[in-house]
Amino acid sequence: MGRIYFDYHSTTPLDPRVFAVMEPYFRERFGNSSSGDHAYGWEAEEAVDRARHQVAQALGVEGREVIFTSGATEANDLAIAGSFEAPNRGGSHLIISAVEHKSVLKTAAYLEGRGATVTCLPVDDEGRVRPQTVAAAITNETWLVSIMAANNEIGTIQPISEIAAICRARGVLCHSDAVQALGKIPFDVRSVGVDMASFSAHKLCGPKGIGALVVTDGARDRLVRRVHGGNQESGLRSGTANVPAIVGFGRACELAVAEREAEAQRVSALRDRLHATLRAALPELFLNGPSEDRLPGNLHLSFRCVEAESLALSLEDVAVSTGSACTSADNEPSHVLTAVGRTDDLLHGGIRFGLGRYTTEQETDEVARRVIAAVERLRSLSPLWAQVTQHPASP
Ligand code: PMP
Repeated sequence: MGRIYFDYHSTTPLDPRVFAVMEPYFRERFGNSSSGDHAYGWEAEEAVDRARHQVAQALGVEGREVIFTSGATEANDLAIAGSFEAPNRGGSHLIISAVEHKSVLKTAAYLEGRGATVTCLPVDDEGRVRPQTVAAAITNETWLVSIMAANNEIGTIQPISEIAAICRARGVLCHSDAVQALGKIPFDVRSVGVDMASFSAHKLCGPKGIGALVVTDGARDRLVRRVHGGNQESGLRSGTANVPAIVGFGRACELAVAEREAEAQRVSALRDRLHATLRAALPELFLNGPSEDRLPGNLHLSFRCVEAESLALSLEDVAVSTGSACTSADNEPSHVLTAVGRTDDLLHGGIRFGLGRYTTEQETDEVARRVIAAVERLRSLSPLWAQVTQHPASP
């Protein structure tokens, strides 16, 4: 067996069923969906409308509430900075959590430099934001609460409906980065009750460079554009529509939602199998994140006396992650593992296994075999390991 991909939170392979519907829009149907004067434009516009409807259906909203963006980073920026810049914002207080994606954390830091005050809520030792902490943090100055639906590193599913209900009762706008939730857990925007939510196609076997911000009707006038120009996307995001990617995003949403339940069962069974095999073979192995309320394809482990980078390198033909791909360039310990209270070697030893649509049982068993061999080898070289095995400690 050659290379094995276990990094589905970072990105996913494109589903051939998605590529099939995209292909004509790279070739003969290349029109600009804003060209209202000819058939090339009309067919592109029709395709965008159809895809918008597919995305809206998958998310339980209306087509007009879907604003296509280049991905979730831009969607998060539009939701947070776009609502900060709205003239009717009210106060200048923003609430986020310590485990948000960098695209939220850095946007919050950017706004702090422009007069916003930011409360960054702590999480419990499984990475969960307690709804009471949200309620306690809201003030008369709060204009937005932005809490992710599910964590991209340790897979924690947040009590986002409860958080949204608190925001609603207090009249505060609520946004959720729901990138990792779509297609993995039920996420119907209206039943969850958030005002805005961000999504990205490349996490659900769709193309890269396309995503959406859902802006529910009630939130529409609380937001201003960040990208100026031709007023596409109801004036909220100018720029020529990426038609093939939008078409692919629509199909990817349709498939992800239709296959969600069966896939979640299949993938979580493989994930549990991997965990059980590793646990049986390796002592001093610690699960990061919750054992319940966890994304189906997520397993995040720290191995005592094993550096994550060394392990990832020894597993050269197994693609795993030692952090979130978006932050690994920073070379800092994970802010998420830090937020859940991991310290010393367990903080530096976190490995994320991300399973998904094309993961097989054979691959799962092969990954387990290679991880066990690599951990045993690295530990045999570690002077600390000999001491630890004589006096095992709890984390
Ligand atoms: N939020 C979360 C939770 C993510 O996992 C990612 C992708 N790593 C993003 C936002 C950014 O999405 P995109 O790649 O579409 O900009």
